[in-house]
Amino acid sequence: MRVEVLGAGIVGLAVADELARRGYGVEVVDPDPGRGASYAAAGMLSPSAEVWHGEQALLELGRRSLALWPDFADSLGVRVHCTGTLLVGRDAGDLQEVDRQAGLVDSLGGCVEQVDARTCRRLEPTLATVAGGALLPEDHSVDPRAVLGALLDRVPVQSTSRGADLTVIATGAVLPQPYAALVRRVSGEVVRARTDDPPRRTVRGWARGEAVYVVPRPGGEVVIGATSEEHDTAARVTVGGVARLLTAARELLPGLDRAELVETTARDRPGTADNLPLVGPTHEPGVILAAGHFRHGVLLAPLTAQLVADHLDHGHLEPTTDPRRLLEPR
Ligand SMILES: Cc1cc2nc3c(=O)[nH]c(=O)nc-3n(C[C@H](O)[C@H](O)[C@H](O)COP(=O)(O)OP(=O)(O)OC[C@H]3O[C@@H](n4cnc5c(N)ncnc54)[C@H](O)[C@@H]3O)c2cc1C
Repeated sequence: MRVEVLGAGIVGLAVADELARRGYGVEVVDPDPGRGASYAAAGMLSPSAEVWHGEQALLELGRRSLALWPDFADSLGVRVHCTGTLLVGRDAGDLQEVDRQAGLVDSLGGCVEQVDARTCRRLEPTLATVAGGALLPEDHSVDPRAVLGALLDRVPVQSTSRGADLTVIATGAVLPQPYAALVRRVSGEVVRARTDDPPRRTVRGWARGEAVYVVPRPGGEVVIGATSEEHDTAARVTVGGVARLLTAARELLPGLDRAELVETTARDRPGTADNLPLVGPTHEPGVILAAGHFRHGVLLAPLTAQLVADHLDHGHLEPTTDPRRLLEPR
């Protein structure tokens, strides 16, 4: 069987890599490989920090995929940054947000440990004075551009389709018809900076009501993100978005004042109606979706690859991600 994967973002490339590993003849088609949302992503492998009420199923998918990351990263020669995530609140109001998130993670069976202000500073000496925080020991990170680079070295990509027996649609925030309406575009801006005094782990938090994260990479790069806005036009970097991110990040990590500003980027996250991804068959024979990963496409890439390959191998269906839950019945 010849399989064509449309889209060379982290999801399409991970799917193609897994299918090739299992012996399928695979072609990937993308006129601009590796430059979609995956290029902007901060790379948090973070099932807990962004989970919301009613998102138990998403948390479970995230934790399953997180468990696959060490082997996936090893196979690509990429490092997972395994120091957990520190959630912090700058003032008493911000700490209420931390407590709410920590309580939610705990109630959903996730792993969280409340820490006082002094422990926050001990864990992260570059922090400003904060009101308190919580440690999410399971929430790690990876450099998505390193992952994309390693996958693109292994998976050749064509710019135009040559036809196939089966098509996997992994085109991120813009799906072809008749699937376009399944995904909404939620733009996000991020800033990349370089510092000789980065935090040791991902620091997320609220500063005077503004949410922000700072993800460190080996070599001193930090990714500061992210704004979030639903819109119909192409994602773009705005003065206001960057200003809000930098103000909040400097409130939590004042040493960032001396960091070198390297890059600003904006891309669209592919959101779905229930915030769960679309992975599995459609009503159209020979058309499979691997899309709609919203805020968690990096985290969910290895699980998505496995689910698509398991479906082709032996018809496996994952009810929570089955795209037909959001498609009109035939
Ligand atoms: C600012 C920001 C920060 C983020 N941070 C994180 C994070 O920390 N952790 C996390 O897990 N997720 C994060 N995400 C979400 C994550 O980036 C996405 O969920 C993920 O990248 C989606 O991957 P994808 O491969 O589906 O899409 P994309 O990376 O967008 O790739 C889609 C590809 O399809 C191609 N394409 C489009 N149309 C066609 C067509 N008709 N034919 C062929 N190819 C086509 C495009 O050129 C593109 O290369 C973040 C997103 C943003 C915007």
